[in-house]
Amino acid sequence: MGEMAENTIKTGLAAIRTAIPEHVTLVAVSKTKPIEDIATAYAEGHRDFGENRVAELVEKSGELPDDIRWHAIGHLQTNKAKLVTPIAHLIHAVDSIRIYDALAKSVGDGECVDILLQVHIAEESSKFGFTEDELRSILGEVEDAESGVFGNSRVRVRGLMGMATFTDDITQIAREFKGLRRFYEEIETGMGSSFDTVSMGMSGDWRVAIDEGSTMIRVGSAIFGSR
Ligand SMILES: *Cc1c(COP(=O)(O)O)cnc(C)c1O
Repeated sequence: MGEMAENTIKTGLAAIRTAIPEHVTLVAVSKTKPIEDIATAYAEGHRDFGENRVAELVEKSGELPDDIRWHAIGHLQTNKAKLVTPIAHLIHAVDSIRIYDALAKSVGDGECVDILLQVHIAEESSKFGFTEDELRSILGEVEDAESGVFGNSRVRVRGLMGMATFTDDITQIAREFKGLRRFYEEIETGMGSSFDTVSMGMSGDWRVAIDEGSTMIRVGSAIFGSR
């Protein structure tokens, strides 16, 4: 990697880290980018990295330091659950009961993996995620989540994740993020004390997301350059 690319990464990372409030975690999304790019950000003290493909997550985590907190941010298939749980610090895109159960089965005795439930907030029908109504009815059947469908002590629901519509319309993006934050607050009391995360905001919209109550942003191209 050239010095130029290295400086671009350092500058991009520093700019965002300086701009975000302390209660917001920056996940640097390194998907498709080489190991050296991650090492550059690591050398700057960054520890939270996001990958969307399981094969890439497995490969990169094997070659980089153990104190990296890996975030699995992409849609997961049940047959990949076993590969992800030993590596992931947080799994962002749990979008079905099937994948929740598959993760629970793949966690060993005495171990625990943290997850976020992905909520469909975008206008497009192509994006994954539970609808709010689906989650309301899943959660509504029991007094609290810890004794219900999401009650497996090996898989802790830490919060919600959402992706806004791919559009230039900031008003629409803000509305979608606001809705996710509102829904988080609606269900928060039933979800136990470790429910504390709202993962929303990417390169193009992380400022809006933080204004609307994000606690975790997932930023790729604004740090590592376009893919
Ligand atoms: C790629 C990706 C991101 C980061 O996207 P950028 O626009 O490059 O910041 C965030 N979240 C998910 C789920 C992604 O797949």
